[in-house]
Amino acid sequence: MKRSVSFVHKYLRSSKKFPHIWCPGCGIGIFMQALIRVIDQIGYSKDDIVLISGIGCSGRLPVYVDFNTLHTTHGRALTFATGMKLAKPRLKVITIMGDGDAIAIGGNHLIHAARRNVEIAAFVLNNNVYGMTGGQCSPTTPYGASTTSSPYGNLEPVFDICRVVEAAGAAFVARSTVYHTPLLERLISKALQKKGFAMVEVITQCVTYYGRWLELGSPVEMMKWQRDNAIPVEKARRLDEEALKDKIVIGVLADKEKPSYHEEYQKLLQQKFKV
Ligand code: SF4
Repeated sequence: MKRSVSFVHKYLRSSKKFPHIWCPGCGIGIFMQALIRVIDQIGYSKDDIVLISGIGCSGRLPVYVDFNTLHTTHGRALTFATGMKLAKPRLKVITIMGDGDAIAIGGNHLIHAARRNVEIAAFVLNNNVYGMTGGQCSPTTPYGASTTSSPYGNLEPVFDICRVVEAAGAAFVARSTVYHTPLLERLISKALQKKGFAMVEVITQCVTYYGRWLELGSPVEMMKWQRDNAIPVEKARRLDEEALKDKIVIGVLADKEKPSYHEEYQKLLQQKFKV
């Protein structure tokens, strides 16, 4: 236990930026540990990594880790990340976004980063709600769910983030929950090493503004719900739409080889300007 704590601390700005703002039982910390473990396993140096976020609870993650980091404006993490990858192609560029940040305010940027196939590892932490601003309805809030901005029930259908990103042209699309940590780590590893735009949707729990508001129980109970409602993609392919209703399909949903925008851009620079 001591070893694992000191191992993670190597990557944290523990003497400057803590205590963190996350509520006890929030899933963002589980994702952060998984990301750190994978970065360490792959063997990136701290200087190889650029971690970029927008605004929201998950947007605080880059503040706490000792990489090159940018905490940017709401929904705009991918615009900064695209510029960063084109200007400094040797760096491993990672974005951390929440569901509101990525698919509502930043929805257009998400679609076009996927379409361009920019080499960015994008992690969307989907907790079904706007946590930091007080629990308002987001594009992934389930139909009928009560939130602070939909007290009588949400009337909007849910956006399937993975389908949108796959249809837009991303090279790699996958989903996990924070309960399925070994799978989550495998998917993070694949995304970090993918040549092209790689998006992993991470289903996580907002225990305060979603779980408490909807009386979903303790953080442990919310994670048990993830365990009981997740279906591996291989099994899901054999089921019809009715059987998949309200289920979380986890695993690799798309994995394609295609030229990334960054590679094309480098070729163009060589052809036109011999650089
Ligand atoms: Fe996590 Fe929700 Fe608390 Fe934000 S408000 S830190 S998402 S539990």
